[in-house]
Amino acid sequence: MKVNIEKFNAKREAARIREKMVRANERNARQALLLTRRLDEARRGVISRAVDQVVRAAPKSPRLQNRALLDLARGKPCLLASPICNRDSMTTVACHGAGVARGKGLGYKVSDFWTVWGCSSCNHYTDAYKHATAEQKADVFTRGYALQILAWRQIATEKPTSRDAKAARWALERWEEHQRNSHV
Ligand SMILES: [Zn+2]
Repeated sequence: MKVNIEKFNAKREAARIREKMVRANERNARQALLLTRRLDEARRGVISRAVDQVVRAAPKSPRLQNRALLDLARGKPCLLASPICNRDSMTTVACHGAGVARGKGLGYKVSDFWTVWGCSSCNHYTDAYKHATAEQKADVFTRGYALQILAWRQIATEKPTSRDAKAARWALERWEEHQRNSHV
């Protein structure tokens, strides 16, 4: 009898987790759709040009870190969408675009606000991938970063007191501060 109750509880727990995952996926899909709609706007808009200029003048030092911002990338849609994108949000990490922003290899790593949600394939694309030029990598990263700014803005206002919102605001503030300092 005890075993049966345990089995029943385990089943119920599994169903509850499944339901949670479905809801999370629906949220991700809605978010991805919203971001896609904004892509054209971003491509045409000021953000793209500003990001492009900042890519060229990547921050030198000091490296600013934020664990919560890196955690925030987990399970999010890939915003880099490079030619080798695997579109699997389960592999998403905060990509530092090491092959794009001058950073790694020059004795320093770029700051965490300088990241874009990217799947494992796109992370590789913007880093060590050999079959794309620096310009192609910069293009992918730049477009992704424009979307990232929009995504952070959305998160920052959705649940203002959450850990995610705080991390998003931190990134936006660093980014705005950087823009002011580089006179973009
Ligand atoms: Zn991708």
